[in-house]
Amino acid sequence: MLRTHTCGELNATNINQTVTLCGWIQKVRKLGGMIFIDLRDRYGITQLAFNNETNAALCQQVEKFGREWVIRVTGLVAERYSKNKNIPTGDIEIIASEVEVLNESMTPPFTIEDESDGGDELRMKYRYLDLRRNPVKNNILFRHRLAIEIRNYMNNIGFVEIETPFMIKSTPEGARDFVVPSRMNPGEFYALPQSPQTFKQLLMVSGFDRYFQIVRCFRDEDLRADRQPEFTQIDCEMSFVEQEDILNTFEGLIKHIFKKIKNIDIDPIERMTWADAMKYYGSDKPDARFGMRFVELNDVTQHKEFKIFNEAELVVGIVAKGCANYTRKQLDGLVDFVRRPQVGAGGLVYVLCNQDGTFKSSVDKFYDQNDLKAIAAKCNAEAGDLILIMSGPRMKTQKQLCELRLEMGTRLGLRKAGEYKLLWVIDFPLLEWDEETQRFYAMHHPFTAPKPEHEAILESNPGAVNANAYDLVINGTEVGGGSIRIHDRQLQNRMFKVLGFTDEEAQKQFGFLMNAFQYGAPPHGGLAFGFDRMCAVLSDCDSIRDFIAFPKNNSGRDMMIDAPSTISDAQLQELFISVNTKQE
Ligand code: ASP
Repeated sequence: MLRTHTCGELNATNINQTVTLCGWIQKVRKLGGMIFIDLRDRYGITQLAFNNETNAALCQQVEKFGREWVIRVTGLVAERYSKNKNIPTGDIEIIASEVEVLNESMTPPFTIEDESDGGDELRMKYRYLDLRRNPVKNNILFRHRLAIEIRNYMNNIGFVEIETPFMIKSTPEGARDFVVPSRMNPGEFYALPQSPQTFKQLLMVSGFDRYFQIVRCFRDEDLRADRQPEFTQIDCEMSFVEQEDILNTFEGLIKHIFKKIKNIDIDPIERMTWADAMKYYGSDKPDARFGMRFVELNDVTQHKEFKIFNEAELVVGIVAKGCANYTRKQLDGLVDFVRRPQVGAGGLVYVLCNQDGTFKSSVDKFYDQNDLKAIAAKCNAEAGDLILIMSGPRMKTQKQLCELRLEMGTRLGLRKAGEYKLLWVIDFPLLEWDEETQRFYAMHHPFTAPKPEHEAILESNPGAVNANAYDLVINGTEVGGGSIRIHDRQLQNRMFKVLGFTDEEAQKQFGFLMNAFQYGAPPHGGLAFGFDRMCAVLSDCDSIRDFIAFPKNNSGRDMMIDAPSTISDAQLQELFISVNTKQE
């Protein structure tokens, strides 16, 4: 090794030892006859001291060193005159006797410090430098620790990690595929997997009854803060199980993670049906750290002349505790909030429950004190509370009120960092109707089994069929999801039909799976957790990008290597791609 120690480990117990360190220069400071260098590596920072009086030649050499130069230094560990209590090595410094420059560095385009002066784009372009910064580096180390914990736990309970191919077949369901042209098969393409779903099911047919994989998945979707075109899943599948077994097995994993990584003991994870989640929170991933549950108000609001409510499919409200003292300006602010295009509501009705037992509302013209009292009673609102009411088509209104609920939760400080509320959302509908294309889509994916008791109505009333499908939600973020699968060829056939596939299409796309089902497919089910997302949620962070060593930006570009990029005409020709989409 070129070094005897790292820059993070020396302390008072090492005083008088001769050591050799390697690292990057964080800072050079001249102070009277002394030069001090902060030397950094992955493990920490150690102060190096050079004394002009005792070693002038060395000082002359060191004087010209710049930030981020890589050096190797040998010296004696000494007690530091002014100690730095903020770092583990703060009690000592190295009185340097020998220095070797391992490599010089250009001045970095931004400061390599916890608070950098570089903007997002610049830091993305020089990601390898950004990764030297503690906050970014620590996220990557955190991710590693989490992966190791998961692998150990899964191994201990008999799961086998098996790799599945990245060059597979494009499928029409789900998100858009990234495709890879095949040179050896002109005009044909591989697709990168959106998930290893069919492969893990085939592994069940093969008899690997407990499979997992920490695996990259690829989806060509529009990007948001918590999306990346390539992301990582903890993908799992089990045979001879029912939903209950899967929920219990992975509740074990989640508990283990929270204990090991956060030293938090998780309560048994609450379960909520999809129908209740929608009804009480307007979302299939409720942030259950706080209540403020929806109260449906049709019966106490549709008896007067207020047309907007009378014509609405749903009138629904929430109670903001202790907010009756909101000013006109604050209330108008909430109206503006729901009118923002991201929420898209027409407006908002409020009822203030005054301390003296009277009420004041934005619809006093239509509702008298008794009416408002009835609304308040229905909502369980007390004197001092504020009721916020929205109305319109059911699903749309639920979504809009969900946004308002989250906003109020944030404003009232109810979404506390460091507090974790976990939920299994269960009993998802099997299918969802799409108005635009006038057809049903699989809510989870086409391999999800209908609840056995609903199988009979799969064709006659598809919209009413539920599935043994489940999501794990933490603080309002969907961290994972899965289902019990179809393992019977006939049923899978019926499912494809309901999804609008002809027999030929089903055979062409998924023939391999349906054929496999004829050779003894066991009952099976599984799930996948978003690994990047899990890292972010456990760190109270919004963006998964911070936990990926080399992420892409919001337009799906890798700013560092500048991808995607054009390829040469020769390459295109070789791949039989004749359309050159290069823009002039
Ligand atoms: N393959 C599914 C997904 O990516 C997860 C599962 O059903 O296991 O969402």
